[in-house]
Amino acid sequence: MRWTQTLLTTLRDAPAEAEIASHRLLLRAGLARKLASGVYTFLPLGLRALRKVEKIVREEMDRAGGLEILMPGLQPPDLWEKSGRIKAAADVLFHVKDHADRRWILGPTHEEVVTALVAGEVQSYRQLPRTLYQIQTKYRDEIRPRFGLMRAREFIMKDAYSFDAEEAAAKKSYEAMLEAYRKIFSRIGLEAFPVEADTGVMGGSSSHEFCVVAEIGEGEVVTEEGGDYAAAIETAEGRPAPRTGTAGGMEKFATPEVRKIADLAGEKFGIPACDQVKTLVYTDGKAVALVLVRGDDEVQEAKLLKVCGEGWRAAGNAEIVKVLGAQPGSLGAVASTLAGKNVTVVADMVLKGQAGMTTGANEDGFHFKGVEVERDLKIDRWVDVRKVREGDFSISGKKLKISKGIEVGHAFLLGTKYSEALGAKFLDPQGKQQPMVMGCYGIGVTRTLQAVIEVHQDKDGIRWPAAVSPYTVMLVTLDLADTAVKEATDQLIQSLEKAGIDYLWDDRDERPGVKFKDADLLGFPWRITVGAKAVAKGGVEVKCRRTGGMEMIPRAEVGAWVQNKLAV
Ligand code: ATP
Ligand code: MG
Repeated sequence: MRWTQTLLTTLRDAPAEAEIASHRLLLRAGLARKLASGVYTFLPLGLRALRKVEKIVREEMDRAGGLEILMPGLQPPDLWEKSGRIKAAADVLFHVKDHADRRWILGPTHEEVVTALVAGEVQSYRQLPRTLYQIQTKYRDEIRPRFGLMRAREFIMKDAYSFDAEEAAAKKSYEAMLEAYRKIFSRIGLEAFPVEADTGVMGGSSSHEFCVVAEIGEGEVVTEEGGDYAAAIETAEGRPAPRTGTAGGMEKFATPEVRKIADLAGEKFGIPACDQVKTLVYTDGKAVALVLVRGDDEVQEAKLLKVCGEGWRAAGNAEIVKVLGAQPGSLGAVASTLAGKNVTVVADMVLKGQAGMTTGANEDGFHFKGVEVERDLKIDRWVDVRKVREGDFSISGKKLKISKGIEVGHAFLLGTKYSEALGAKFLDPQGKQQPMVMGCYGIGVTRTLQAVIEVHQDKDGIRWPAAVSPYTVMLVTLDLADTAVKEATDQLIQSLEKAGIDYLWDDRDERPGVKFKDADLLGFPWRITVGAKAVAKGGVEVKCRRTGGMEMIPRAEVGAWVQNKLAV
């Protein structure tokens, strides 16, 4: 392709709203243009890269036994009523109305549609397992679309759905998809790894996110030094450095003006946060629960919602005083102070066996010290509700590290939630009707493309991995008027075409400096420069974008040379 015949304008600067490197480069390199907030057009170059990502995704999904289909973006709301997600996912649903005032949903995902489809197509265990997938446009009314393609309102997803006769088989399908994902991201040139994740509104029993470590990531990923453990912060388990508390008797003491953990930890009382019990109050509007964590810990709300159920929230001051008779600052779960109060107490595991703790007395301005958790507190349930902190230890005793991650893919083992709601049943060998066991698997194709740019860039521009670069070679001709150069370029083009290597030929009448800058910005793996000096010597100059290394190559060998490099 000749530059002068394609639609490609590079920009010296990106609009100020582009806050992260990959978003700026997306625009500066002429890959995509914004139509509206979170809505983008792919230009020829961007579309080429996107198609290469899609091709890899498709090949690996096919290899894993996936069957490609294409479902509609317009979805009837009654399917979403049946699954219950018309409410649960309400915040992201786009609704449209037709001329007869009927409502439609613009699909943010396709569990409902695919389950209804399979309910009609599959009747017998003999037709199972099946994994269906599509690469298709999704619509989500994101509260804050940002970072270009990373969080868009309209984006492309590869979504796959597995249907099995039983849980064990579903787990196998799930594992096969995780394996396909590993291959996909590795071929694309992204170091993405699976982390245990929260199942959220999706429901289901098991979930993994595929994360790419990057500073601008919106998620936090917990990993183990020298081990395999990896989990999203919402579900990660860890243990803080242990404390040394001494056993003794419990004693009430006056703590005027103490409102928070830090006040007791201050000079006046000198009780370190780790020696305190933090007492938080949650409610669903009716019942009330006290949640206890160590004073230096925070509650991880995603874990808490799993424990309590959806709809629970932090109680307000008035609600707290009404039930406990004290302000936040003096709350606690000492059994004698909870007599006659209708509250459930859940305590974080880390508090188990702890002695010499301090906690509120449910009386303003008073606390207890010398508290032995299991002896003195009323605890109904032991749970894991703390948020993992940097420097914690994993269950196997290794140091935990927290990094920022971009979620490029997500897998859920769904169980029978959707198949029961939408009637996807089959007859087992005994002739009994059973609901299918499902899994669902998404890859944000457009987000992945931008993640590639985010990870592979430097101050001069993009550094595309060859597998997804819009073109493999940037052919830069200098001295366009020189006949020897023109001939050499023609010969090179033949050599590249013969070797099946895609190239963009910068045939613009521009200064060398401008062309080189643009070549670095666009960032294809190899730049081949044809200029009068090198041509006179029978060679051309090849520059590797990744290493910056230059080599002189005999002209006729260029095609084979690039082919060789691609094979490595
Ligand atoms: P997030 O937590 O980032 O909102 P999600 O959990 O809502 O993601 P899924 O419903 O699991 O995402 O969708 C599958 C994949 O689609 C995600 O892993 C991500 O790569 C991509 N994706 C989700 N929302 C968007 C969006 N608004 N823009 C671009 N890609 C998205
Ligand atoms: Mg989301």
